[in-house]
Amino acid sequence: MRLIFLGPPGAGKGTLAGLTGRRYAIPQISTGDIFREAVKKETELGLKVKSIMVRGDLVPDDLTINLIKERLACEDAQKGYILDGFPRTIPQAEALSSFQQIDAVLQFNISDEAVIRRLSGRRTCRACGAIYNIDSIPPKAAGICDRCSGELYIRGDDRIDSIKNRLEVYEQQTAPLIRYYQDKGLIRDIDASISVEESMQQVDRILQYEL
Ligand code: AMP
Repeated sequence: MRLIFLGPPGAGKGTLAGLTGRRYAIPQISTGDIFREAVKKETELGLKVKSIMVRGDLVPDDLTINLIKERLACEDAQKGYILDGFPRTIPQAEALSSFQQIDAVLQFNISDEAVIRRLSGRRTCRACGAIYNIDSIPPKAAGICDRCSGELYIRGDDRIDSIKNRLEVYEQQTAPLIRYYQDKGLIRDIDASISVEESMQQVDRILQYEL
């Protein structure tokens, strides 16, 4: 299964891609996670993308495309994968179609107001990347990851100015992908405004009965 999870920031793509990846034994490939790891390790790539990410802008296409090409050539991606946060522009989607055939694009639908509410409550584990929300998925102890006891923090791009910019960037650069994949008959809709469990049931239904 070669899947794309498409939707605005805060729609829950990362959480659902993680669950889906574990359930169907395919890797979740998140360009955002790869960039964040590079920033943390202060690699050459990390130094290039750090300020772009904090503003909520997009990393240049050529850099992102090369990175995903390399990642998809890895052994674990040969049996399928979930792309979480890629593609985000038409040139990225066109590049992807030149070397991979996608089975479905799951589109996560949610309003801007719900996104702002969610992202401002999001807490991320600095050590393992696990995602919580102080309202809907709180950790057992405030500020501490249930899984690895790592420190929970607010991502630089989860601050309000950056959230608003990310929503604008999504509308201008990523939303055109909905039409692009609709024309290819690949879009499947997921209601992302409901609970994680309910959205996951919709994902399961599509993956088990519609593909
Ligand atoms: P995410 O965790 O998917 O919200 O990504 C965090 C940030 O990483 C984005 O706001 C961008 O700055 C960058 N990023 C992630 N994926 C891409 C992509 N496919 N193209 C360009 N920039 C990306």
